[in-house]
Amino acid sequence: MAAEIQPRPQTRKPVLLSKIEGFQDVVNTAVIIPKEDGVISVSQDRTIRVWLKRDSGQYWPSVFHTMPVACSCMSFNPETRRISIGLENGTVSEFVLSEDYNQMTPARTYQAHQGGVTVVLFVLEMEWVLSTGQDKSFTWHCSENGQQLGTYQTAAWVSGLQFDVETRHAFVGDHSGQVTILKLEQDNCSLVTTFKGHTSNVTALCWDPVQRVLFSGSSDHSIIMWDIGGRKGTAFELQGHNDKVQGLCYAPHTRQLISCGSDGGIVIWNMDVTRQETPEWLDSDSCQKCEQPFFWNFKQMWDSKKIGLRQHHCRKCGQAVCGKCSSKRSTIPLMGFEFEVRVCDSCHGSITDEERAPTATFHDSKHSIIHMQYEPTRGWLLTSGTDKIIKLWDMTPVVS
Ligand SMILES: [Zn+2]
Ligand SMILES: [Zn+2]
Repeated sequence: MAAEIQPRPQTRKPVLLSKIEGFQDVVNTAVIIPKEDGVISVSQDRTIRVWLKRDSGQYWPSVFHTMPVACSCMSFNPETRRISIGLENGTVSEFVLSEDYNQMTPARTYQAHQGGVTVVLFVLEMEWVLSTGQDKSFTWHCSENGQQLGTYQTAAWVSGLQFDVETRHAFVGDHSGQVTILKLEQDNCSLVTTFKGHTSNVTALCWDPVQRVLFSGSSDHSIIMWDIGGRKGTAFELQGHNDKVQGLCYAPHTRQLISCGSDGGIVIWNMDVTRQETPEWLDSDSCQKCEQPFFWNFKQMWDSKKIGLRQHHCRKCGQAVCGKCSSKRSTIPLMGFEFEVRVCDSCHGSITDEERAPTATFHDSKHSIIHMQYEPTRGWLLTSGTDKIIKLWDMTPVVS
């Protein structure tokens, strides 16, 4: 019988709309202004710039402001047109943009950290400014009176921060590879739990408050989807980058996760599929297929078991196998393996073509991405690269 052709969900592909150039150094954070043809950028070259699209089709600065030190990060609230900027000297400076985006007025400055600010997040609902610094602290300030409300010492430098307004949980991803979940009160916080799955820096976090799913991206090239809402403690791996993952955004309308990496890759993941957890690795002193003993210290490898270091384990069944019994490779997209991975010979025979159908599409941004942002109302993506260029992408065109 001929194979039945399943209608595939439509996938989108990024189309380059514009480039914004002219920076002296890299743009650490930039955001698309919703409902306005504009972009706000903060750069290592110390500038804060607001770019508006002119009749010529080019983006030109309507605001150009130079700070005393480099601007490391930014949070923009479109409702209040407030920008909170984290600086290399540990302060957070806030400005308010005029309605026409042609002027910027200083609002408030917080002496938040002893070292450079690594992430800043303004939460309008709480009137809170959350920030993390190179001093390994996480603090939150009241944006109405400027007072520090609380602080928490993190295990390492923080590079990812998300907040759930409804339950007041903060997700803090750090350079040790762990994600710490804190429950914040007005002036104190408590440790809820930590997620350990990455073998290197957490570089990006993305929280979907509807599905209650947290995505973490890492320098170890992987993404982990932590299904917090499912309450079963399930975690799904997504392996689709050849280098550090640098940014993550979830598009709720299309149930797609967009990830960017320093390899220049933009990966669009279809999250509207039932994914499978990767199996636990089985511990054995001998190959579980041919029973040849392993000659290395397997116990020690097991004790330091980490996702991503799975040589000589079948990724599908988790059995410990020797090289001879796992000579073949296969993709297993529903387990997150979009690239070919080691599988044992019996699993190789059992994986169907349908199971091999990719659940992600791969695109080349042609620059090494250090930051990304997705604007869902227009379906635009912004990428900022080591080439000091911002690129704007239309993510709506459909490829069949
Ligand atoms: Zn074997
Ligand atoms: Zn297997």
